[in-house]
Amino acid sequence: MIFTYCPDCGKKLIPRTLGDEGDIPFCESCNRPFFPMFSTCVICLCVNELGEVALIKQSYMKTEHFILVSGYIKPGETAEYTAQREIEEEIGITPESCHFALSVFYDKRDQLMLGFVCKAKKADMKLSCEVAEAKWCPENEVMNNLRGGSITVQLFEKYLELKEQNKL
Ligand SMILES: [Zn+2]
Repeated sequence: MIFTYCPDCGKKLIPRTLGDEGDIPFCESCNRPFFPMFSTCVICLCVNELGEVALIKQSYMKTEHFILVSGYIKPGETAEYTAQREIEEEIGITPESCHFALSVFYDKRDQLMLGFVCKAKKADMKLSCEVAEAKWCPENEVMNNLRGGSITVQLFEKYLELKEQNKL
């Protein structure tokens, strides 16, 4: 989203050249630039000691495909904290570690997605009301449950690659 008016004082923004950034909408009253806005989210591949992956379906989803736990980063949070919080909130599992794996910019929704591999002990899941269904899925069945070409697939493939290279 590109700003036209100042989100603080409401004045119309004027383009101002800011070094290498080029022309950026600038508020002359507040004396600050407003860079284009996008949201930052985490997507979490939560894996247990048996190599099973936590897959979920959200209540509003009408598809046979599963997704991964994900959510928006709130102001003041680190991405690692958000990853842990979202896993706890959505499936009631507390991960032991959250390891950054890859980032993808999702144009359609103007979102920067930060992908994490999170390790947890296998336990029964306690689902939030946003989650309709969840399961621990064996690694060799994960791909059959995901939508081809999705960011979820990219993160799972990255996970396999990192595991292969002993980088987790
Ligand atoms: Zn202003």
